[in-house]
Amino acid sequence: MYPSEARLNYILNDAINNVEYFRTRVHRSETITTTDLLNQFPILTKEEVKKHKDHLFSDRAKEKIKGVDLFSMDEFLIPESTSGSSGFPIIIYKSKLERFQLAIDLWAKRRLIDERVNQENMFCLIHLPHNQKKIIKDTRNLHPDAIQEVLNYLIESKPLLLHSTPSDLVKYAGYILDNNIDLKDWKPAFIESNSEILTESDKELITTAFQSKVVNAYGSREVWSIAYECTEGLLHLSDNVHVEIASLDSDEILETDSDKYGEVVVTSLILREYPFIRYRMGDLAKLKTSNCSCGSKSQVIELHDARKINLIHQVESSNKIANGVSLFKGVLWDMLSKGYSGISRYKVIQSEPKLFEVYLVLEGELNQNFITNFSEFSKRRLEQDDVTILIKKVDNDHEIFNGKSYSFISKIKI
Ligand SMILES: [Zn+2]
Repeated sequence: MYPSEARLNYILNDAINNVEYFRTRVHRSETITTTDLLNQFPILTKEEVKKHKDHLFSDRAKEKIKGVDLFSMDEFLIPESTSGSSGFPIIIYKSKLERFQLAIDLWAKRRLIDERVNQENMFCLIHLPHNQKKIIKDTRNLHPDAIQEVLNYLIESKPLLLHSTPSDLVKYAGYILDNNIDLKDWKPAFIESNSEILTESDKELITTAFQSKVVNAYGSREVWSIAYECTEGLLHLSDNVHVEIASLDSDEILETDSDKYGEVVVTSLILREYPFIRYRMGDLAKLKTSNCSCGSKSQVIELHDARKINLIHQVESSNKIANGVSLFKGVLWDMLSKGYSGISRYKVIQSEPKLFEVYLVLEGELNQNFITNFSEFSKRRLEQDDVTILIKKVDNDHEIFNGKSYSFISKIKI
């Protein structure tokens, strides 16, 4: 393996030479260091990728895909759609070779946890492989009957590696514990949690329900694995990425070992045909030098429970991280202490700096007392009097609950 600086240098130069978007934005000088060269690259947002989607292909890829409908083609580039948790999905592309290289790295990490795991004894709740589709109809259906059907299959087939998102795993864990489901002699070697931030409390719940170790894999559809949990429980960066942490309100890059949280900015050292260079992930983290006893020298990433869209946008810029998910959980607690126990589901959207839209699924009717109390508790916890709290009663299947299930999102760019 080449030292990562050489790989980074190669990727950056390849992008300048072969990708129109970077060729027109970055000016290279022959004597420049890799760090200085990297600093000349713009920090890329999802909006920017969407806007310039046709200029991010390499010249090699453009040549091969000329006149071909990308979604009917599976020869050279394979399209994927991101999950769209930040509001809109984007289409990204990887070559078969790139996917192969990324998969090899991921399997190496998994085998460090348990060397018995392989593609044959792995079960994915989120991307169902072809051979499992025949047996299980729909693993994304989280109705109790559907969960029971999948569990029956798992208990019977005993996969060694179970892979899913924390939110799905939590639903399964809740079902197992609430119904005292006996998993018989099925004991996965480990459960891999992927795609979303895994909180400590969710990890504990999943561990208890499945009686199995939960391993956190941090990555994204765009670049795949970014970090993988080691035997000591720390998330070490993959060799296939270069990670920087950007300040939350500017493009300034924070020093490694800084105490401040910033946003993860990732550069893939593998992807060349549709590269991701200095790409803002929307996740909040700190980057630390490793002195981990597992022996890995890779830097350690410490993720915050909230993503950037879960943060309350403050009108006055401040360093305080106000996590909307926990703040409104607090408001619900206040309501419960006042005797309002009929809130069965909710979602809050900060649609303007001073406007919070609250969608509630209620057992009873929405009355003025309820509205006044909810409003007052919200303002108190927000420490702002001049905000509007707009409360709406909705049904359980209202479109507001579609997609990822964050209970708070801010639609304001911060
Ligand atoms: Zn370690």
